[in-house]
Amino acid sequence: MTFDYDLFVIGGGSGGVRAARIAASEGGARVALAEESRMGGTCVIRGCVPKKLMVFASEMPEAVSQARAYGWDATIDSFDWTAFRNTLENELTRLEAAYRKTLQTAGVIIYDARASLIDPHTIALSTGKTITAKHILIATGGLPFVPHIPGADLAVTSDAMFHLPKLPAKAVIVGGGYIASEFACILNGLGVKVTQIYRGDEILRGFDIEARTHVVAGMERSGIQILRGRDVVRLDKADDHIAVHSSLGEIFSCDLVLYATGRRPNTAGLGLEQIGVTVKSTGAVIVDEFSQTVLPSVYAVGDVTDRINLTPVAIREGHALADTLFNARPTKADHELVPSAVFTQPEFGTIGLTEEQAAARGLTDVYVSKFRPMRTAFAGMPEQYLMKLVVDTETQKVLGCHIVGPGAGEMIQLAAIAVKLGATKGDFDRTVAVHPTASEEIVTMRKVTRQIGATIKA
Ligand code: NDP
Repeated sequence: MTFDYDLFVIGGGSGGVRAARIAASEGGARVALAEESRMGGTCVIRGCVPKKLMVFASEMPEAVSQARAYGWDATIDSFDWTAFRNTLENELTRLEAAYRKTLQTAGVIIYDARASLIDPHTIALSTGKTITAKHILIATGGLPFVPHIPGADLAVTSDAMFHLPKLPAKAVIVGGGYIASEFACILNGLGVKVTQIYRGDEILRGFDIEARTHVVAGMERSGIQILRGRDVVRLDKADDHIAVHSSLGEIFSCDLVLYATGRRPNTAGLGLEQIGVTVKSTGAVIVDEFSQTVLPSVYAVGDVTDRINLTPVAIREGHALADTLFNARPTKADHELVPSAVFTQPEFGTIGLTEEQAAARGLTDVYVSKFRPMRTAFAGMPEQYLMKLVVDTETQKVLGCHIVGPGAGEMIQLAAIAVKLGATKGDFDRTVAVHPTASEEIVTMRKVTRQIGATIKA
């Protein structure tokens, strides 16, 4: 049977774009891609990229107060949200065009349309066109999830945060994950009074407890009110503000409610179940290590599979699939030891096991250093870095590294290479420090802070 294309990709986000480009440019495949919204997907259009630019904007007042301590006659006046937002929008338009150009240069045919599946080789476009393909890749990402509570329509999700008509004076943020915590810091830095409401004991659940405690202390010191152990049960519109009702009976008044309570795979209406692709109850497409679904011609990569929901992981999955199908290199995406950063203030970079995970596994040496960095100590600021290595006592292999402080995201990327290579604590020790830097601390922690773990005798 002849097909219109060798590969048809549904979704122009990180994973889909990478798979399409590599399949076409390196694999010589005839490739088409459908995107119903803006090219670039969540990361570029409504996630990592605009978020990081907002992080930069929100850090400026702190930079100016440091400048004053260093002798500069520096002041910072009011923040012009509209001007910033317009520049941001222009930048996203530029990036979107760059993504489109890259695909076109690679020879990928783009359909600006919604696509769904009719059978394992046939796609229907919202334009009415029907297309056949030998292989079909689902790369439709995720969508914000908002629990069903009365008044939920008064809240916004992260999608709206980059287009706000104006900045609120007071915001309530619901959730304790990456997005809630990052936006709490961004808005706080931009001068918004922020209350973050989290249903559990402590935000950033799942991360190393000592590291996340350090992050939270910094967030609270900067003025963010974090309320734990309660949920939001109702939102009411009251005059020109929103009344947020908590499960403890409190009422908070604000101008903006941001729900950041997780994301769900974007599979509704794709026709997956009708053609026999199995999905989880969350909608996540079930795939094997080669990102193949139960139907041999249908694959899925990125957040739609709900494996590790990070852009670089989706990119790797998309690339691996293109190599497998068109470059005669069967490749599994590597999901082991994936580093990540939470762009809170203070920033948090992490790779590998937490202290708690390592301790549950066996005897563990934990090295912790907390210190005031030169730059902010000089300015009389109380901020402290936290650097932590989690080491297997027996093999001395570094199992985890957790860094909290300025530039933690940059540092963890490099530390991750060592951890991924299986470096031991001795390898870290043998590496000469770069002085004077904050990161030198990662190679100068000589004394075990504590030894913990399953085989410790009482
Ligand atoms: P997360 O899964 O990280 O966090 C969701 C939060 O919402 C948790 O605190 C969770 O609580 C809470 N929650 C979930 N359901 C409810 C509910 N029904 N009522 C109240 N609270 C609820 O999701 P995010 O939305 O923050 O981020 C989505 C994904 O995007 C992340 O998994 C991450 O992979 C990715 N991301 C990565 C970033 C980065 O790399 N810097 C930045 C932003 C996003 P509980 O802890 O109790 O479950």
